[in-house]
Amino acid sequence: MTFVESVAQAHPRDQRTIDAEQPTFSIVAPVYNEEVLLPEFYRRVVAAIEPLGEPFEIVLVNDGSRDRSLQIMLELHERDPRVKVINFSRNFGHQIAITAGTDYARGRAVAVIDSDLQDPPEVIVDMIARWREGYQLVYGVRSEREGETAFKLATASLFYRLIRKITSVDIPADTGDFRLMDRKVVDALKSMREHHRFMRGLSVWVGFKQTGVTYKRDARKAGVTKYPLRKMLKFAMDGITAFSYLPLQLATYVGFGVAALGLLGIIAVIILRLLGNELLGQATTLVAVLFMGGVQLVFLGILGEYLGRIYDEVKQRPLYIVADAIGFDE
Ligand code: UDP
Ligand code: MG
Repeated sequence: MTFVESVAQAHPRDQRTIDAEQPTFSIVAPVYNEEVLLPEFYRRVVAAIEPLGEPFEIVLVNDGSRDRSLQIMLELHERDPRVKVINFSRNFGHQIAITAGTDYARGRAVAVIDSDLQDPPEVIVDMIARWREGYQLVYGVRSEREGETAFKLATASLFYRLIRKITSVDIPADTGDFRLMDRKVVDALKSMREHHRFMRGLSVWVGFKQTGVTYKRDARKAGVTKYPLRKMLKFAMDGITAFSYLPLQLATYVGFGVAALGLLGIIAVIILRLLGNELLGQATTLVAVLFMGGVQLVFLGILGEYLGRIYDEVKQRPLYIVADAIGFDE
C-alpha cells in the first residue's frame, strides 16, 4: 500500500466529494473536559452565526474528555442536528482534535475556535466579512489577553518572536488557532498528514490570501487550562522542529566557534610554555572537559528531538482514532 492509499484508508472522508447540501460555514471546536462551558458555547455560536441566514454546522471534537462533555454534546446534537460530534477513542491532543474537525467539516469556510469561550464566537462574523472580501485565511490576532499569567504571556511573546526569526514561514505574532479558512485552505491542510502538528504554522505555510482580525482574548470562563508547562514546551518544540533546521545547524556554528577557541588555546599554551611558564593545573582541564561534554549532550538531545519526530512519521500511524462520528450522514 502506498502512503497516499494508507492515508485515504485512514481518512475515508478525504475521498468524498462535497454534496449539494454543503453548509456555508463549519464551526470546529476541540473539547477536552469542558462540560461547564459547552451549552453556553453552543448558545453563543448559534446567536452569532444564525443571523447571517446561511446554513452552518458545528463540529465538536471530543478529545477523550473524562467529564460529561460527550453526553452534553450528544444532547446538543439531539436538539439541533446542525451540531455534529466526533468522539475520539482517547485523548489525542488539541492540535489533532482541530485536524479531525477540519477533516470532517464540509463548509465552504471553516472556522476553528476553542470551546472554552476564550475566543469570542462573535469574532467569526468579522472573519466571515473578510472572507467575503476574498481573503482565504483570516486569523485572529490577540490585541489583549485577559486572565493569563504573566509567565504565560512572557513565554508566549518570546516564543512567537523566536519562531518568526528562525523559521521561513511568516507566522504572525500573537495568533492562536482561532481562524477562518476557505475550503481551498482546508483541502490543502488535509493533504498534510504530519504527526507533530503545529496548525497555526501549517495554515500559513499553505499560502493563499491571508489577513488578520484583531480581537480581545477573554479569560477562561470556567475550568482550568489543559496546557500545563510540559505540554507548552512540547508544543513549542513541535513548532520549531516542524519549520526550522536551525537547532541542528547551530551545532555546526557552535562547533566552529569552540574549535577556533581551542586553536587559540593551543597557541596560547605553546607561547606560555616557550616563555617558561608553569601550566595551569587540573581545574582548567576539568572545566574544559565538562563544558564540551555539556555542549555535546545538548546537541545530542536536539538530534533526538528531530530523530524521534522522524520515527513517528515513519511509523505511519493514523493521526487519530474516531470511536464515533455522530450526525455526519454517510
Ligand atoms: N483541548 C483539547 N485537547 C487537549 C487540550 C485542550 O481538545 O488535550 C481543547 C480545550 O478543550 C480548549 C482548547 O483545546 O477548547 C484550548 O485548550 P486550553 O484552553 O486548555 O488552552 P489555553 O487556552 O489555556 O492555551
Ligand atoms: Mg483556553
